[in-house]
Amino acid sequence: MSGARIAGDDDRTRFVLDLDKQIDPVISALGDPHRLIIDLPEVEFSVPEETGKTGRGLISDWRYGLFATGKSRIVMDLNAPVRVDNTLFLPSIDDQPARLVVDLVSSTDGEFAEFIEESRAARIEKTKKTAAKSDKLTAPKDSKKPLIVLDPGHGGIDTGATGVAGTLEKAIVLDFANLLKEKLDADGLYDVRMTREDDTFVALGRRVEIGHELEADLFISIHADSVRVGRKLARGATVYTLSDKASDQLAGELADIENMSDVIAGVELDEEPTEVTDILLDLARRETRSFSVYFAQTLVDELKSAVRLINNPHRSAGFKVLKAHDVPSVLVELGYLSNEHDEKLLISDEWRERMADAMGEAIHGFFRPRLARQQAAPSQ
Ligand code: ZN
Repeated sequence: MSGARIAGDDDRTRFVLDLDKQIDPVISALGDPHRLIIDLPEVEFSVPEETGKTGRGLISDWRYGLFATGKSRIVMDLNAPVRVDNTLFLPSIDDQPARLVVDLVSSTDGEFAEFIEESRAARIEKTKKTAAKSDKLTAPKDSKKPLIVLDPGHGGIDTGATGVAGTLEKAIVLDFANLLKEKLDADGLYDVRMTREDDTFVALGRRVEIGHELEADLFISIHADSVRVGRKLARGATVYTLSDKASDQLAGELADIENMSDVIAGVELDEEPTEVTDILLDLARRETRSFSVYFAQTLVDELKSAVRLINNPHRSAGFKVLKAHDVPSVLVELGYLSNEHDEKLLISDEWRERMADAMGEAIHGFFRPRLARQQAAPSQ
């Protein structure tokens, strides 16, 4: 995709993409908030950085990016319910690029609700067809080594926060996770996996599933978010664990931002599962939470001497990505991209090395008793 334009007004809006090949889009809708989703085969987006930040007419803004391997996606936030009046593909003529044109007209809530229903039915049909290919992760677990899942936040169409100087959260958290994995792999004591290894979007629920399917012993989600209020004050690393009630306002605000990831990428939200009142599951959940808290405290102790921390560096809130009932999970905000000083640190090699070493030390501390037991009884 080499260009995009929007023309029209609140009654009728035309969205045009310049393309270098013919593609067959699948257009669907999601509500709450009103969104239009255009799924495409993987395309390269070589458009100016500001593209999509402002819309026109029925489109308030839009974003684009890799949604999954081989699949690109465009998500538009809408100002009003719409109907797709027309979709056409214009082949390239002379020096004009090929174009995909989508005409939207304003519609009613009732009609838009029907559009959402049809989209859902089409999606379920498609899922059925591809279900056989779905790659469930088996757990080829090396029985001795603790398995650690590193979870670089965001990715693909969900860029996460943008720094004062333009740093993208999705890129720096992936770089950092790669560095940490390299260090842990070098120790040879752990089996380290990643929820994503490239610039691909992964839904929050899928991240939790990966930890569960791999029977991970520890799950570390890595972020560097931005806050709207207190940009000057919110800086330094923070370690979060799951709680029903946020420990403070900042924690609550951050969990809300994080939990928006699926909405940004246009993933249909599952109904919140009704809490199962299963005594064993409850016990497992409680045990997992205490391991999560223990690791968070170990991590804070280690980070204290290495990098700058926020005041009260162990906080908690309702992060969806930390909800595995059987995997101790923490979320680390490396720093805040909304703070210019933090942003400079986050892109500095020296700081990253120090941060990754300190996290490595905390991980050793967490698994030391288990590794010592294994050494004492090597035959088991
Ligand atoms: Zn984030």
